[in-house]
Amino acid sequence: MIPVTPYSRKNPFPATLRTNQKLTHPTSAKDTRHYEVSLADSGLIYEVGDSLGVFPVNDPTLVEELLEVLGFQGSELVPDPNGEQRPIREALLRHYAITEPSKQLLAAIAERDLSAAHLAMLPAPESKEHLEKYLWGREVIDPLLDHPAARFTPEEFVKLLRKLQPRLYSIASSPKVHPQEIHLTVATVQYESLGRQRKGVCSTFLAHRVTEEIPVSVFIHSAKHFRLPEDHSRDIIMVGPGTGIAPFRAFLHDRRASGASGKHWLFFGDQRSETDFLYREELKAFQKEGTLHRLDTAFSRDQTEKIYVQHRMRENAKELYTWLEEGAYFYVCGDASRMAKDVEQMLHEVVAKQGGHSAEAAAAYVEALKKEKRYRKDVY
Ligand SMILES: Cc1cc2nc3c(=O)[nH]c(=O)nc-3n(C[C@H](O)[C@H](O)[C@H](O)COP(=O)(O)OP(=O)(O)OC[C@H]3O[C@@H](n4cnc5c(N)ncnc54)[C@H](O)[C@@H]3O)c2cc1C
Repeated sequence: MIPVTPYSRKNPFPATLRTNQKLTHPTSAKDTRHYEVSLADSGLIYEVGDSLGVFPVNDPTLVEELLEVLGFQGSELVPDPNGEQRPIREALLRHYAITEPSKQLLAAIAERDLSAAHLAMLPAPESKEHLEKYLWGREVIDPLLDHPAARFTPEEFVKLLRKLQPRLYSIASSPKVHPQEIHLTVATVQYESLGRQRKGVCSTFLAHRVTEEIPVSVFIHSAKHFRLPEDHSRDIIMVGPGTGIAPFRAFLHDRRASGASGKHWLFFGDQRSETDFLYREELKAFQKEGTLHRLDTAFSRDQTEKIYVQHRMRENAKELYTWLEEGAYFYVCGDASRMAKDVEQMLHEVVAKQGGHSAEAAAAYVEALKKEKRYRKDVY
């Protein structure tokens, strides 16, 4: 019988974060962490391939700074996105997005401050590129600081903000091994722009502000398109650089627990082997005991020329094609903007060269893999 849970996206579970552990070395350019979230007493169940939705709370320092710039006390009552009245401090912390500015906010600032006239054009459909350029590295606070003559009532201001959205994270654990827990692999987003330190809303919330005493609101986001093969004897190829490793750690734990006879091949990559080899010991142990049959790594900054996972695919093209011909499933997880496209292009190249196919026939081969649901992606 499927257990019933009252928890969902609409009614998230207040979970306890049990573990927050850095996976990257302190000298790494990145801060990627392993989290363990307890599902105890929630009735929530998950499957490998699913993601965890996390409702973040905004950075209180940024909220205080906004209140000051706007000249608000923080106790003024405003409607939240559902129309419920709340003090504006709470509304800005928990209910509204206070980083990426909305088009409506830019237009309203332009209306109120003559020095912001150039912002008036940005929301127009033909200014899409200008808008993207303007928004890159800017947050709600920036146009407010730049144009202090733009004044708002608390209610006017929040009505120009978007609703704060939950973030999704690929689940890095298997319910067969950790039924009461969910593990995550999260890169903390931090960067500097226009002389200010910027912090990704949810990843820095998890890294720096959630403690065992402060619950984190979560829900399960099902990913039916990213399941393991039902047949445990099928081989799987996994391409998961960076945080893309997360679901594949779950796959390996799951298939090991179910005694799957199929083989596993993982392509992992990141910047440097010394500082960014996520789950190195665990993967080596999986290799040693025979759960992970092949592990090919690509550390882009270990040498002068950049080497990425797709280059390792090319080096191993013959074997990769053999696995595919023998019915292997091909999985990709991680960066959608470049990695997933480069990997797909390499897949075409591997199939064309090794199978002696034309570019069109290789494209048809890859298309057939997708149709058969043997080529599965979870990219973001
Ligand atoms: C299905 C799915 C699974 C995912 N799984 C994972 C996972 O396993 N691990 C993981 O870490 N993430 C994962 N993500 C991404 C995750 O949901 C968040 O998008 C990510 O953590 C950033 O959220 P944030 O709130 O910390 O940052 P935000 O506050 O949303 O900020 C991110 C934004 O900051 C801006 N930005 C970032 N860097 C710069 C820069 N250098 N200069 C200027 N602007 C910049 C960009 O506009 C970027 O979109 C997944 C996403 C999806 C959809």
